[in-house]
Amino acid sequence: MIVVLKRNSDKEHVERLMQHFTEMGLRINYSEGEHTTILGLMGDTTKIDERDILAYDVVERVQRVSEPFKAVNRKFHPEDTVIEVAGRKIGAGYFNVMAGPCSVESEAQIVEVAEAVKKAGASFLRGGAFKPRTSPYSFQGLEAEGLKLLLEAKRQTGLPIVTEIMSEKHLDLFADVDIIQLGARNMQNFMLLKELGRSNKPILLKRGLSATMEEFLMAAEYIFAGGNQNVILCERGIRTFETLIRNNLDISAVPLVKMFSHLPVIVDPSHAAGRRDMVQPLSRAAIAAGADGLIIEVHNDPKCALCDGAQSLDIPQFDTVMADIKRRAAFEERTMMP
Ligand code: PEP
Ligand code: MN
Repeated sequence: MIVVLKRNSDKEHVERLMQHFTEMGLRINYSEGEHTTILGLMGDTTKIDERDILAYDVVERVQRVSEPFKAVNRKFHPEDTVIEVAGRKIGAGYFNVMAGPCSVESEAQIVEVAEAVKKAGASFLRGGAFKPRTSPYSFQGLEAEGLKLLLEAKRQTGLPIVTEIMSEKHLDLFADVDIIQLGARNMQNFMLLKELGRSNKPILLKRGLSATMEEFLMAAEYIFAGGNQNVILCERGIRTFETLIRNNLDISAVPLVKMFSHLPVIVDPSHAAGRRDMVQPLSRAAIAAGADGLIIEVHNDPKCALCDGAQSLDIPQFDTVMADIKRRAAFEERTMMP
């Protein structure tokens, strides 16, 4: 349930109303926007009689929220959320490109790619250290050593980093990571979601391989429920009957997220198709659909990549795609973050 307050309401009266809700055992999400202030109520609101609430003179109107996701719901927070991390803004028209290899393989590799993507205009370096692989015999990532190499690339280039966590036991290792990625395969790892909710790190939450929009937003709700409101959503393609591409980019997820939630949403055109020749067209589609950014796999030598080489752009290809992204983002009136 949301309670919309009248403009310029008396503070003391608002506090009295909030106390009333707290005494009923409800949690309150206070959202003060430019035009409206909203109290979002969480918990068992069935016992509330709307007429009792309307009797408070600070209340403009009361609305029940039927969706199970509350704190991430746009009804609770009508304005777009902007996440600020490492001096970059994400959301509400602020556009970021995160780029780098699927996996960190060596210092030389990650530093070369970091320098190249920075020069081309990416605002974050991506790179996997802990890799969720379908086969136990595939390269599993350099793990803690990979994180160290990413931090070294960050030190040398100044690019903030985004990398995937696979277990809550590793959280301490991620202390200097700028954005923690929760991968598609762990979107419903509820223990991990709860731990990330208790942390104060920005989280890049990727949509599960066959997750509905409601399941996706409920995963974000888990993080919010723990107190962490720094969530960036990522549409990375869903599994369909198509076999020519790895996944199908669900482009409608972008406007749908914007309709139902205030959170920023970025698109991963690399995992969405699994082929490098689809990265540019899917990036264009993402920008046109309203995405707040892109996460793109780039490798200095894709044919020798230890993971996801077929979908990785080489450095000259990334330069070309990036130039195209800049033009189209400008056309769509996005503000590119450097
Ligand atoms: C990745 O970003 O390398 C990755 C494994 O992505 P996803 O979780 O979307 O498959
Ligand atoms: Mn990958």
